[in-house]
Amino acid sequence: MKTHAAPHILVTGATGLLGRPVLRTCSANPVWRVTGTSFRRTGPGLVRFDLSQTEQIPAFLDRLAPTVILHTAAERRPDVSEKDPDGTQRLNVGATDALAQWAAARGAFLVYISSDYVFDGTTPPYRPDDLPHPLNAYGQSKLDGEYAIRAAGCDAAILRVPILYGEVETLDESSVTVLAKNMLNARPGAQLPMEHWATRYPTHTDDVAAVLRQIVTRRLTNPEFKGVFHWSGNEPMTKYDMACAFARVLPFDVTRLVADPAPPQGAPRPQNAHLDSAALERLGIGQHTPFASALPSILAPHMRRP
Ligand code: NAP
Repeated sequence: MKTHAAPHILVTGATGLLGRPVLRTCSANPVWRVTGTSFRRTGPGLVRFDLSQTEQIPAFLDRLAPTVILHTAAERRPDVSEKDPDGTQRLNVGATDALAQWAAARGAFLVYISSDYVFDGTTPPYRPDDLPHPLNAYGQSKLDGEYAIRAAGCDAAILRVPILYGEVETLDESSVTVLAKNMLNARPGAQLPMEHWATRYPTHTDDVAAVLRQIVTRRLTNPEFKGVFHWSGNEPMTKYDMACAFARVLPFDVTRLVADPAPPQGAPRPQNAHLDSAALERLGIGQHTPFASALPSILAPHMRRP
């Protein structure tokens, strides 16, 4: 990548939970040229493209000629990945591989969003060089995406993040805000069990977008800036803890919430895959939004019609 030229940043998955704030944050820089890709959804300034058609990726990228690719598009629902490992593999690994091959050939900088689910959750906190050991097909696909990038040999940053929440189009878009939807839809007066087994570190999408912007900014002045990084919220919470925080914002009696110590059904999940963000913080990169302070503005548009 030519570090002196204004970058052309391509955000894949720009209609997604994370992609939207990433597109917004990058577009706020008047010098950066920013293009977003979408798949089923669309919107102004977005280019529609099916990344699972991996053989078409090189020609697509040749047309756009980005110098930086922020690759957020993925299948990120563990239970869907478990049922459709081939489709997940095509998107999470095949597309990542094609993007990485193109970036290696054209000298573009690739930033790949990976997940805390590459770890098994038995020995937290996890540093970037700790040994991954995914427990489910989704985690394995994200790790295989990382391996594809390393094998392609492109200049890249891999940013692993944990469970995300932020501004949502519908409350069930994030596995954090869906808790609020379940609370709003619960039978009046009924008790509501909430998982109290896995310790999660809910992380605001605006914070991840800010970290990505800082990574790109760093890279533009320092061609050696690359590697594997972690960014995580700093508040350990089970889903029961998150629901208690929602109860303070919603009209919901917190005593109706019942802490359920059983592990969740479906694809196996890590119990505590806490990502250690210290390395990025030491570099002066990061942003933390306190969980409770973010909830009122996230919930406000959904209070009438969840
Ligand atoms: P998301 O809300 O499900 O968004 C997925 C994005 O990928 C959407 O923009 C979607 O486009 C696009 N997409 C899906 N299939 C596609 C295809 N075949 N071709 C092109 N684009 C396609 O996901 P997210 O929560 O923003 O996740 C962003 C990244 O963070 C992912 O890499 C995920 O693995 C990682 N991550 C997420 C979480 C989390 O809690 N959400 C946790 C850890 C890591 P359309 O909507 O237009 O179809």
